[in-house]
Amino acid sequence: MFQSFLIKYAEIGVKGKNRYLFEDALVEQIRFALKKVDGTFDVHKTSGRIYVDAKTEFDFDDVVAALQKVFGISGICPVVFVEDKGFEQLGKDVIDYIDRTYPDKNITFKVQARRARKNYPLDSTEINRELGAVLLEAFPELKVDVHTPQVLLNVEIREKIYIYSRIIPGPGGMPIGTSGKAMLLLSGGIDSPVAGYMISKRGVKLEAVYFHAPPYTSERAKQKVVDLAHYVAAYAGPMRLHVVNFTDIQLYIYEKCPHDELTIIMRRYMMRIAEAIANETDCQGLVTGESIGQVASQTMQSLACTNDVCTMPVYRPLIAFDKQDIVDISEKIDTYETSIQPYEDCCTIFVAKHPVTKPNVNVIRIHEQNLEEKIDDMVKEALESREIIEVE
Ligand code: ATP
Ligand code: MG
Repeated sequence: MFQSFLIKYAEIGVKGKNRYLFEDALVEQIRFALKKVDGTFDVHKTSGRIYVDAKTEFDFDDVVAALQKVFGISGICPVVFVEDKGFEQLGKDVIDYIDRTYPDKNITFKVQARRARKNYPLDSTEINRELGAVLLEAFPELKVDVHTPQVLLNVEIREKIYIYSRIIPGPGGMPIGTSGKAMLLLSGGIDSPVAGYMISKRGVKLEAVYFHAPPYTSERAKQKVVDLAHYVAAYAGPMRLHVVNFTDIQLYIYEKCPHDELTIIMRRYMMRIAEAIANETDCQGLVTGESIGQVASQTMQSLACTNDVCTMPVYRPLIAFDKQDIVDISEKIDTYETSIQPYEDCCTIFVAKHPVTKPNVNVIRIHEQNLEEKIDDMVKEALESREIIEVE
């Protein structure tokens, strides 16, 4: 029944010149998302609005599901368009629309006409009144409510006439590509995919980096991270996943540094390497799934030690989230089932029984000096030998 979708987006903060950037990015992201759906679609901007017109048959649910993953969309309105064959015919078309869209007629409604084509014989107030009367006559159970109608029936007079009333919620946020790029430290856990999703929701494009430690971590553990990146990419768009072999660095830290500080020192090297790749790939920030107090390496003191090695801003969107709230989002974005698969993580292999919970950054810096002999070469080697996987 529907031939088109009107795309609603929040306009706050997208005035003036930025508005065009926002709209163009949104159009591009919609086109991209619809490539995965059967059918041909014309995505266009017309008088300050974005429409998705179907040029072929399509599956309604598939299109809506694809659009619900495009950040920047606040609402999706399925539209019926009819030819302008005079006002009497429009009355019949509107009756038909209401009849098919609302099987239960016990509803309140209001007609909201917009006359984009000024040569139409009736003005919008007249259209509202006349169509309201036509509908009440056809369906006596209907009631008009001009203040808070359950159904706001939009009738837009353009070359054709657009009729719509339903608004399916979109994901909100900003279109990918409107806010720069960030490097996501992606592990196989629950948190980091959610962190990536949240940052990309603000329009940020992502690159990702995963540290693995073969043979202590398996190919299967790596595949799990690729799978997670794939789920995040469903929202964030295609991304490159840099897989860094961290084994030698971990073993070297294990050999040279106090064992209760292993995790912190290891985390500092992860951040350093992530930042080096971020610089090479034009990222403006790092993203982690850290949350205060979740584990020993995420106390305020530990976070300060990790942060100490970074010059780029580190974004931690989950910093004040409870675990359950994070789990809820991971279920929504389909990463949860993958995240809980029991594969070893490179952090868990070398963890001490009693890791420091209040590390002192000056002490950590001194202990890191034990690594001076070989660490720079090892970092260089890790960077150079990294594998890059394109994730769709
Ligand atoms: P997650 O559920 O995201 O794995 P976590 O609760 O296991 O988080 P940590 O292991 O302390 O927490 O890791 C904190 C953050 O550091 C992660 O959210 C992630 O951003 C990053 N991180 C940890 N391990 C790795 C790894 N092997 N590769 C890339 N990033 C990692
Ligand atoms: Mg982890």
